[in-house]
Order: sequence, then C-alpha cells, then structure tokens
Amino acid sequence: MLAKPRIGVYICHCGTNIAATVDVGAVTEFAATLPGVAVARNYTYMCSEPGQALIKEDARTLGLNRVVVAACSPRMHEPTFRSASQEGGVNPYQFEMANIREQCSWVHHDRHEATEKAQALVYAAVMKAARLEPLEEREAPVTPAALVIGGGVAGIVAALDIADAGFPVYLVEQSDHLGGRVAELNRTFPDLEPVSEWLPALVDRVQRHPNISVYLNSRVAGITGFVGNFEATVEPVGVGLAPALGRPQGSPLQVGAIVIATGYNVFDPRLKPEFGYGLYPQVVTTLELEHRLASGDLAVNGKTPKEVVFIKCVGSRDQQLGRPYCSRVCCMISAKQAQLVRQALPDSRVTVFYMDVRTFGKRGEEFYDEARRVGVRYRRGNVSEIFRRGDRVVVRVEDTLLGRTLEHEADLVVLAVGMDPRPEATDIAALLKLPRSADGFFLEAHPKLRPVDTAVDGVFLAGCCQGPKDIPDTIAQAKAAASSALIPLMRGVVPMEAATAIVDPELCAGCGMCVEICPYGAPALDPLWGVSRVNAVLCKGCGACAVTCPSKAIRLQHFTPDQILAQVEALVGW
Ligand code: SF4
Ligand code: SF4
Ligand code: SF4
Repeated sequence: MLAKPRIGVYICHCGTNIAATVDVGAVTEFAATLPGVAVARNYTYMCSEPGQALIKEDARTLGLNRVVVAACSPRMHEPTFRSASQEGGVNPYQFEMANIREQCSWVHHDRHEATEKAQALVYAAVMKAARLEPLEEREAPVTPAALVIGGGVAGIVAALDIADAGFPVYLVEQSDHLGGRVAELNRTFPDLEPVSEWLPALVDRVQRHPNISVYLNSRVAGITGFVGNFEATVEPVGVGLAPALGRPQGSPLQVGAIVIATGYNVFDPRLKPEFGYGLYPQVVTTLELEHRLASGDLAVNGKTPKEVVFIKCVGSRDQQLGRPYCSRVCCMISAKQAQLVRQALPDSRVTVFYMDVRTFGKRGEEFYDEARRVGVRYRRGNVSEIFRRGDRVVVRVEDTLLGRTLEHEADLVVLAVGMDPRPEATDIAALLKLPRSADGFFLEAHPKLRPVDTAVDGVFLAGCCQGPKDIPDTIAQAKAAASSALIPLMRGVVPMEAATAIVDPELCAGCGMCVEICPYGAPALDPLWGVSRVNAVLCKGCGACAVTCPSKAIRLQHFTPDQILAQVEALVGW
C-alpha cells in the first residue's frame, strides 16, 4: 500500500531559458492546486546548490514523500535531483521530472500556449509521481581482476596501470609478441625518437610484472557475465604456439572489468588498383618505408631513388571506399618520413601530394614547417593514377590549386595508408554486444563525456580500436580506460539499477521473445522451469522486453502501466 502522496513541485526558470517563454509563476500556482501537492515553488536555477537545498529543506520540514522537478531533460539533471530528493529523505525513485525546456520553452514562441503546455506536462508528472513506488538500489560484488584484450601499446599501458594499482591483469594478445603496430615503427614523430629506446622497456615491465599474466598467440573466444563479474574463455590461436605466461590455459578467467585495446589494421592499398601497389616495385606503403629507413636500404631495382613522392590520404577521407574518416596520423608520418628520406638521400627531391595538411597536436605544425625547411615540397593535388614509364613510374595528379593535370615521374612512391578497423572487432563486438560506429570502430558511450566507456558497463576502450589516433593520444586513452576500469575494482561493489524489468513466472509462456529483443542480454530462459528470468545487474530498464512480451508477463519497475496511463490520461484529458 503506497503512502498518501505529499508531493513537492519545483519549477525552474533556467535563467531565461524557460522563464522567457513560460510563465513560471502561473505554472507554480497551477501546480499548487493539483491533488497530493503539498508545496509548489519556482527558482532561478533549480540545479544550483540553493535550488537543491530548497528541495532538501522542504522534504525534511514538510514531510514530502514525492518530488517533481519541471526543468530540463532528465538526461541532464535527473541524477542531480534524485540525489537531492534522497538527501531530503525521499526515495530517489519517487522523483519525477517534467521537461519544460527542450520539450517546451525551446520549441515554442507563444507564451500563452507554452505556459499551458508546461502546466500539462507538470500535471502529467504529478499524476505519475503519486503512483511511484519506492525502489531499493542494491549492490553486486566485484571480482578484483581485469582482462585487457590486445597487447599493443594501448593494452600494455592499460595493463600496467591496473597492475600497478595492485590488481591481477590478464593480457591477451593474438600475435606472438607484445608491442602491436608500434613495434613495427622505427622512429616516432615529432621528436624522431627511436622506438627501440622506450618500447622494449615497456614490454619488459609487463613481462616481469607479478600482477600481469600474458597470453600470447591467444584470443578471447567467449565472454559471459556483467560488470564486476565477467567470465572470459581464452583459447590458443594456431597450433603448437606458446601458452600463457604464468597461468594454465583453458580455465575461464574471472574478472570485474575489461579493457578492449585491439588496435587497427593498415589499409590495403590494393583496394585502389589505380595506384599500382603490388604491381610496381617503386610503389610502397609508409609502413614498408619505415622498415627500409630502419635498415638503411632505400634502393629500388638496385638504384638509389632521386625523385621520391608521398601520396597522402590513401584509404582515408574516401567516400567511395567507405572510409570517410581522417586517419589522423598520415600527415605526420609523411612529414616524418619525408624528412628522414631527405636526411638519408640529400640529393633526392621529395614531393608530398596532399588534399589538406592536418598536422594538429603538440609540435605538429612546427614539425611540418621543419619538413619544408629541409626541402620537402608540398603540392596540393589529387592523384588519379600511377603507371610505369621505363624504369620509373608516373604519378598523374590533378593540381587542385592550379586547376590542371600534371604528370610527375618518380623512382619511389610512398602511399600514406590509413587505418582500418580490425576484422576481429566484429567477434569482440558480438561477444559483448558492443555497438560500433558506421566506420566499424568501437563506439564510445558519449563522444565528449564518456569517451572510453562503452554501452556495456565495466567494458572500456583504449587506443585505435575506438578510432584512429597517434601514440600520445593512444596512451592517454589507455590510462583513462585503466582509471575507469579501476573504479569498480577499487570500490569492490557495483550499484545495480533499481528500475528494472521483472517477469511474472505465472504469466510467462517461455516464448523467448524478450531474450531476442533485449540489447543487453539481461533475460534468459530458465532451463528448468522454461520461463524467462531477468538478470537485474544487466538490465538497463529500457522497456523493450515489456512491450514485446505477448503474455504481458513483464513489468518494468518505475514505468508500470498504471503510472504511464496516469500520465497519458492527464495529457489527453487536458
Ligand atoms: Fe537549467 Fe536544468 Fe539547471 Fe534548471 S535544472 S537551471 S533547466 S540546467
Ligand atoms: Fe515469457 Fe514474455 Fe519473455 Fe515470452 S516474452 S519468454 S512470455 S516473459
Ligand atoms: Fe533488457 Fe530492456 Fe528488458 Fe531490461 S528492460 S531486460 S534491458 S529489454
């Protein structure tokens, strides 16, 4: 039996965001007349400290048991007001928000109509609030260990940070070595520092770390569970390869958090056959040139090249290839390698053909200036094809500044290839039900506010699996992912959403439609009883199962039919 409602209603001005269009005073007077409302007030900024203090003070002194705030979108401040209500002694799930900003003042001009609509929205919220039941937030224990998938620089750094904090880390790498793509580089930009001066030491630290178990030649074949309690199965890749260091393979790994650091693939320039890669020995990729620069052998067909051309954006910013994104590093790699070629072959002429030069980042612009200072020529142009002429190749270019086509003979052509998402990302995405963006890279939970989180609690992203980036950005993101993964590990418990779906086993026919529809894998059919059960830790309360269930066996707490219909009736009867 629900307690008799004593509702506090708070109308926000949001400065002039709401008050310029909605008559906040009239809405407040109207709210005070609604059944169950004990107090109605308005304030300039409800989310400010004084605004929240109003709610807490009223809740305590007036014995409120429900709170309604009419302000912005719940996406913005629902947690703020839930906390304020709770601090005033009101159950946080007996709080309701009416959106009179995005859904009212921002989209209407007529003050009278906007005020009426705000009153209707407040009425509906009060009707729902009167029917809200108290819900209890619970906590689940966390397994104090982490899984890091991918042994490139991102995975290494994330593993070290988590391990240094005192937690066991399982680092799974599908190749036979750690270091990933960076291990294939010779020098890094913009300082031209040899990779050999820092990467081996980092790898050595991982291999010696008492808290890190490294699984080389291995892949994650299965993951079940949820934040705080994942179980991962690791299996060998290939036959007869080295097993894990420090742990027998085969037994599932129990972990509380997962960092995905699966990296990227290099664009295959054979997808642009007009560039003749694989056909002409004169045409190489930036990665191949990196190896040649390391070995000091730049000869083509036994001759030292005199005319060297770089072509940027190969496999990037190319709508036709389905790669509209910028790979972010090719401009700097070209500037770096062009300088190194000039150093190695002072008699050579080096030309870079570009669409745009994007040398952003710390000391990026200065690095580009330095390339030009040492004689690298930059020419704006779109390369349409490469073909052979005698011992050389000819680069046909549309000069986009002069507006004419030119042919440029070269002894060596370097394709600045971009980054592709890894095909293995498809498997990991399927295992964890992780969304990916249109370009195939993993999708972060929010591009600004949650850049290393995913839609799955306890799973974080590091490095180029989330999108192209350079080494400093990769390491920064890996550290951020490690810090985020450490939060549940250090707390030891994870909060469980209270507004979840509940199945009535008496009504459930066991059809499995809720299992199919749930994007979070929360419901499962009980093999013994043949009915669906929802794992409350996985459930996000999205409601998809409740509207799908043909037996009406699922009840979504906090959004029950009684509560929703009360809102609808208030709006329809307005
Ligand atoms: Fe603006 Fe929302 Fe804050 Fe009110 S609660 S001041 S509507 S941001
Ligand atoms: Fe049971 Fe409904 Fe799920 Fe079907 S959709 S299994 S009836 S809860
Ligand atoms: Fe899954 Fe959403 Fe139903 Fe929860 S409410 S079980 S998340 S479909």
